[in-house]
Amino acid sequence: VLICILVLFCMIAVWLSLSMSKKAMIPIQHSYRQQQQFLADVSHELRTPLSIMNTSIDVIEMENGNDFTPMTKEVVIDMKEEVERMSRMVQHLLLLARSDSGSVQFEMVLFDVVPRIRQWVQAFDAIAKQKEIVLDIHVPNALVVKGDLERIKQLVYILLDNAIKYTPVKGRVDLFVTQQSKYWSISVQDSGVGIPVDERQRIFDRFYRVEKHRSREEGSAGLGLSIAKWIVEAHQGTIEVESVINQGSTFTVKFSNED
Ligand code: ADP
Repeated sequence: VLICILVLFCMIAVWLSLSMSKKAMIPIQHSYRQQQQFLADVSHELRTPLSIMNTSIDVIEMENGNDFTPMTKEVVIDMKEEVERMSRMVQHLLLLARSDSGSVQFEMVLFDVVPRIRQWVQAFDAIAKQKEIVLDIHVPNALVVKGDLERIKQLVYILLDNAIKYTPVKGRVDLFVTQQSKYWSISVQDSGVGIPVDERQRIFDRFYRVEKHRSREEGSAGLGLSIAKWIVEAHQGTIEVESVINQGSTFTVKFSNED
Protein backbone atom coordinates (compact mmCIF):
# COMPACT_ATOMS: atom_id res chain seq x y z
CA VAL A 1 0.00 0.00 0.00
CA LEU A 2 2.82 2.33 0.94
CA ILE A 3 4.54 1.70 -2.39
CA CYS A 4 1.26 2.27 -4.24
CA ILE A 5 0.73 5.58 -2.43
CA LEU A 6 4.30 6.58 -3.22
CA VAL A 7 3.93 5.74 -6.95
CA LEU A 8 0.60 7.60 -7.05
CA PHE A 9 2.17 10.59 -5.34
CA CYS A 10 5.03 10.61 -7.87
CA MET A 11 2.60 10.38 -10.78
CA ILE A 12 0.56 13.30 -9.43
CA ALA A 13 3.75 15.32 -8.92
CA VAL A 14 4.92 14.63 -12.51
CA TRP A 15 1.46 15.42 -13.90
CA LEU A 16 1.29 18.67 -11.89
CA SER A 17 4.74 19.81 -12.98
CA LEU A 18 4.01 18.93 -16.63
CA SER A 19 0.73 20.80 -16.68
CA MET A 20 2.29 23.79 -14.93
CA SER A 21 5.16 23.99 -17.42
CA LYS A 22 2.62 23.68 -20.28
CA LYS A 23 0.64 26.57 -18.81
CA ALA A 24 3.82 28.61 -18.51
CA MET A 25 4.73 27.92 -22.15
CA ILE A 26 1.40 29.02 -23.57
CA PRO A 27 1.61 32.61 -22.26
CA ILE A 28 5.24 32.90 -23.47
CA GLN A 29 4.33 31.71 -26.97
CA HIS A 30 1.24 33.86 -26.88
CA SER A 31 3.12 36.98 -25.83
CA TYR A 32 5.79 36.31 -28.49
CA ARG A 33 3.07 36.10 -31.15
CA GLN A 34 1.46 39.25 -29.75
CA GLN A 35 4.82 41.00 -29.88
CA GLN A 36 5.29 39.94 -33.54
CA GLN A 37 1.81 41.14 -34.42
CA PHE A 38 2.42 44.42 -32.60
CA LEU A 39 5.65 44.94 -34.53
CA ALA A 40 3.91 44.19 -37.82
CA ASP A 41 0.98 46.52 -37.00
CA VAL A 42 3.13 49.41 -35.81
CA SER A 43 5.43 49.20 -38.83
CA HIS A 44 2.42 49.07 -41.12
CA GLU A 45 0.74 52.04 -39.44
CA LEU A 46 3.93 54.11 -39.60
CA ARG A 47 4.21 53.74 -43.36
CA THR A 48 1.29 56.06 -44.15
CA PRO A 49 2.34 59.11 -42.10
CA LEU A 50 5.87 58.71 -43.39
CA SER A 51 4.80 58.69 -47.01
CA ILE A 52 2.53 61.72 -46.34
CA MET A 53 5.51 63.54 -44.78
CA ASN A 54 7.62 62.65 -47.79
CA THR A 55 5.03 64.00 -50.23
CA SER A 56 4.50 67.14 -48.09
CA ILE A 57 8.21 67.93 -48.15
CA ASP A 58 8.19 67.53 -51.95
CA VAL A 59 5.23 69.93 -52.22
CA ILE A 60 6.92 72.52 -49.97
CA GLU A 61 10.06 72.23 -52.09
CA MET A 62 8.16 72.56 -55.35
CA GLU A 63 6.05 75.53 -54.28
CA ASN A 64 8.60 77.52 -52.30
CA GLY A 65 11.96 76.01 -53.23
CA ASN A 66 13.14 79.09 -55.11
CA ASP A 67 12.56 81.38 -52.10
CA PHE A 68 14.45 79.19 -49.63
CA THR A 69 17.32 80.73 -47.71
CA PRO A 70 20.44 78.52 -47.58
CA MET A 71 19.48 77.65 -43.99
CA THR A 72 15.94 76.55 -44.95
CA LYS A 73 17.34 74.54 -47.86
CA GLU A 74 19.60 72.66 -45.46
CA VAL A 75 16.75 72.02 -43.03
CA VAL A 76 14.56 70.63 -45.83
CA ILE A 77 17.35 68.33 -47.05
CA ASP A 78 17.88 67.08 -43.47
CA MET A 79 14.15 66.47 -43.07
CA LYS A 80 14.04 64.49 -46.31
CA GLU A 81 17.01 62.35 -45.30
CA GLU A 82 15.49 61.59 -41.89
CA VAL A 83 12.11 60.67 -43.39
CA GLU A 84 13.85 58.38 -45.90
CA ARG A 85 15.87 56.78 -43.11
CA MET A 86 12.77 56.15 -41.04
CA SER A 87 10.91 54.74 -44.05
CA ARG A 88 13.77 52.31 -44.67
CA MET A 89 13.79 51.27 -41.04
CA VAL A 90 10.02 50.74 -41.00
CA GLN A 91 10.26 48.75 -44.24
CA HIS A 92 12.94 46.55 -42.65
CA LEU A 93 10.93 46.06 -39.43
CA LEU A 94 7.83 45.14 -41.36
CA LEU A 95 9.73 42.64 -43.46
CA LEU A 96 11.32 41.03 -40.39
CA ALA A 97 7.93 40.74 -38.67
CA ARG A 98 6.52 39.11 -41.81
CA SER A 99 9.50 36.79 -42.15
CA ASP A 100 8.94 35.61 -38.56
CA SER A 101 5.33 34.80 -39.23
CA GLY A 102 6.35 32.94 -42.41
CA SER A 103 4.02 35.06 -44.53
CA VAL A 104 6.64 36.19 -47.05
CA GLN A 105 6.54 34.31 -50.32
CA PHE A 106 9.64 34.15 -52.49
CA GLU A 107 8.90 34.31 -56.20
CA MET A 108 11.68 32.45 -57.95
CA VAL A 109 12.08 33.53 -61.57
CA LEU A 110 14.79 33.38 -64.20
CA PHE A 111 16.32 36.76 -65.08
CA ASP A 112 19.51 38.33 -66.42
CA VAL A 113 21.09 39.82 -63.32
CA VAL A 114 23.59 42.04 -65.19
CA PRO A 115 21.27 44.82 -66.49
CA ARG A 116 19.51 44.79 -63.12
CA ILE A 117 22.77 45.29 -61.24
CA ARG A 118 23.63 48.25 -63.51
CA GLN A 119 20.25 49.78 -62.76
CA TRP A 120 20.41 49.16 -58.99
CA VAL A 121 23.91 50.58 -58.68
CA GLN A 122 22.78 53.75 -60.46
CA ALA A 123 20.48 54.49 -57.53
CA PHE A 124 23.63 55.05 -55.43
CA ASP A 125 25.42 57.35 -57.89
CA ALA A 126 24.20 60.55 -56.23
CA ILE A 127 25.15 59.59 -52.67
CA ALA A 128 28.53 58.22 -53.84
CA LYS A 129 29.19 61.46 -55.71
CA GLN A 130 28.24 63.47 -52.64
CA LYS A 131 30.93 61.60 -50.64
CA GLU A 132 33.34 61.66 -53.62
CA ILE A 133 33.39 57.87 -53.56
CA VAL A 134 34.28 56.01 -56.76
CA LEU A 135 31.53 53.47 -57.35
CA ASP A 136 32.40 50.85 -59.96
CA ILE A 137 30.94 47.57 -61.19
CA HIS A 138 32.67 44.53 -62.68
CA VAL A 139 30.16 42.21 -64.36
CA PRO A 140 30.02 39.69 -67.22
CA ASN A 141 28.06 40.57 -70.38
CA ALA A 142 25.06 38.59 -69.25
CA LEU A 143 24.21 36.12 -66.51
CA VAL A 144 20.84 34.43 -66.25
CA VAL A 145 20.10 33.34 -62.69
CA LYS A 146 17.16 32.05 -60.69
CA GLY A 147 15.90 33.99 -57.69
CA ASP A 148 13.42 36.46 -56.28
CA LEU A 149 14.15 39.65 -58.20
CA GLU A 150 12.81 42.10 -55.61
CA ARG A 151 14.58 40.39 -52.72
CA ILE A 152 17.92 40.19 -54.55
CA LYS A 153 17.55 43.89 -55.33
CA GLN A 154 16.96 44.54 -51.62
CA LEU A 155 20.06 42.49 -50.77
CA VAL A 156 22.23 44.48 -53.19
CA TYR A 157 20.81 47.74 -51.83
CA ILE A 158 21.65 46.74 -48.23
CA LEU A 159 25.25 45.83 -49.14
CA LEU A 160 25.80 48.97 -51.23
CA ASP A 161 24.14 51.20 -48.66
CA ASN A 162 26.45 49.86 -45.93
CA ALA A 163 29.55 50.00 -48.14
CA ILE A 164 28.97 53.69 -48.88
CA LYS A 165 27.87 54.48 -45.33
CA TYR A 166 31.02 53.02 -43.75
CA THR A 167 33.49 54.32 -46.33
CA PRO A 168 35.01 57.72 -45.70
CA VAL A 169 35.01 60.55 -48.22
CA LYS A 170 37.11 59.90 -51.39
CA GLY A 171 37.07 56.12 -50.89
CA ARG A 172 35.92 53.47 -53.33
CA VAL A 173 33.25 50.80 -53.59
CA ASP A 174 33.38 47.97 -56.15
CA LEU A 175 30.68 45.47 -56.97
CA PHE A 176 31.64 42.18 -58.67
CA VAL A 177 29.38 39.58 -60.22
CA THR A 178 31.08 36.30 -61.05
CA GLN A 179 30.07 32.94 -62.40
CA GLN A 180 31.72 29.68 -61.32
CA SER A 181 30.78 26.14 -62.34
CA LYS A 182 28.70 25.44 -59.22
CA TYR A 183 27.67 28.91 -58.07
CA TRP A 184 27.37 32.57 -59.02
CA SER A 185 28.25 35.37 -56.66
CA ILE A 186 27.90 39.05 -55.84
CA SER A 187 30.71 40.77 -53.90
CA VAL A 188 30.65 44.29 -52.56
CA GLN A 189 34.08 45.57 -51.64
CA ASP A 190 34.71 48.89 -49.91
CA SER A 191 37.72 50.83 -48.71
CA GLY A 192 35.99 51.75 -45.46
CA VAL A 193 36.47 51.51 -41.72
CA GLY A 194 36.49 47.70 -41.55
CA ILE A 195 34.90 45.41 -38.96
CA PRO A 196 36.74 44.02 -35.89
CA VAL A 197 37.29 40.22 -36.03
CA ASP A 198 35.18 39.48 -32.93
CA GLU A 199 32.21 41.39 -34.36
CA ARG A 200 32.13 39.75 -37.80
CA GLN A 201 29.59 37.06 -36.99
CA ARG A 202 27.44 39.23 -34.74
CA ILE A 203 26.79 41.91 -37.38
CA PHE A 204 24.27 39.50 -38.94
CA ASP A 205 22.19 39.50 -35.73
CA ARG A 206 19.15 41.72 -35.46
CA PHE A 207 19.76 45.20 -34.03
CA TYR A 208 23.49 44.50 -33.70
CA ARG A 209 25.68 47.48 -34.48
CA VAL A 210 29.44 47.85 -34.20
CA GLU A 211 30.34 50.85 -32.05
CA LYS A 212 26.78 51.91 -31.36
CA HIS A 213 27.51 55.65 -31.40
CA ARG A 214 29.28 55.60 -34.76
CA SER A 215 26.52 53.53 -36.31
CA ARG A 216 23.76 55.71 -34.92
CA GLU A 217 25.42 58.79 -36.41
CA GLU A 218 25.33 56.96 -39.74
CA GLY A 219 21.59 56.39 -39.35
CA SER A 220 21.94 52.71 -38.61
CA ALA A 221 19.53 50.44 -36.74
CA GLY A 222 21.35 47.14 -37.16
CA LEU A 223 18.65 45.48 -39.27
CA GLY A 224 20.09 45.48 -42.81
CA LEU A 225 22.45 42.53 -42.55
CA SER A 226 19.95 40.33 -40.71
CA ILE A 227 17.57 40.90 -43.62
CA ALA A 228 20.39 40.24 -46.10
CA LYS A 229 21.14 36.93 -44.35
CA TRP A 230 17.47 35.95 -44.34
CA ILE A 231 17.20 36.65 -48.11
CA VAL A 232 20.38 34.70 -48.85
CA GLU A 233 19.29 31.71 -46.76
CA ALA A 234 15.87 31.64 -48.43
CA HIS A 235 17.82 31.15 -51.68
CA GLN A 236 19.98 28.42 -50.06
CA GLY A 237 22.99 30.70 -50.48
CA THR A 238 25.77 31.85 -48.19
CA ILE A 239 27.00 35.28 -47.09
CA GLU A 240 30.52 35.93 -45.80
CA VAL A 241 32.57 38.92 -44.82
CA GLU A 242 36.29 39.60 -45.02
CA SER A 243 37.63 42.76 -43.49
CA VAL A 244 40.76 44.66 -42.54
CA ILE A 245 40.42 47.50 -40.05
CA ASN A 246 40.79 50.90 -41.70
CA GLN A 247 41.30 49.28 -45.10
CA GLY A 248 37.88 47.95 -45.93
CA SER A 249 35.41 45.09 -46.02
CA THR A 250 34.16 42.67 -48.66
CA PHE A 251 30.76 41.02 -48.38
CA THR A 252 30.38 37.99 -50.66
CA VAL A 253 27.10 36.28 -51.40
CA LYS A 254 27.10 32.92 -53.19
CA PHE A 255 24.10 31.31 -54.83
CA SER A 256 24.02 27.80 -56.20
CA ASN A 257 23.58 27.39 -59.97
CA GLU A 258 21.53 24.26 -59.39
CA ASP A 259 17.78 24.30 -58.66
P1 ADP B 1 21.93 48.82 -40.51
O1 ADP B 1 20.61 48.19 -40.81
O2 ADP B 1 21.82 49.73 -39.41
O3 ADP B 1 22.66 49.36 -41.69
P2 ADP B 1 23.41 46.37 -40.60
O4 ADP B 1 22.70 45.22 -40.01
O5 ADP B 1 23.39 46.51 -42.07
O6 ADP B 1 22.88 47.68 -39.90
O7 ADP B 1 24.92 46.33 -40.12
C1 ADP B 1 25.24 45.97 -38.78
C2 ADP B 1 26.56 46.58 -38.37
O8 ADP B 1 27.61 46.07 -39.19
C3 ADP B 1 26.59 48.10 -38.53
O9 ADP B 1 26.35 48.68 -37.30
C4 ADP B 1 28.01 48.41 -38.97
O10 ADP B 1 28.72 48.80 -37.86
C5 ADP B 1 28.57 47.09 -39.48
N1 ADP B 1 28.78 47.11 -40.95
C6 ADP B 1 27.95 46.66 -41.90
N2 ADP B 1 28.48 46.82 -43.12
C7 ADP B 1 29.69 47.39 -42.95
C8 ADP B 1 30.73 47.81 -43.83
N3 ADP B 1 30.64 47.67 -45.16
N4 ADP B 1 31.85 48.35 -43.29
C9 ADP B 1 31.97 48.49 -41.94
N5 ADP B 1 31.02 48.11 -41.05
C10 ADP B 1 29.89 47.58 -41.54
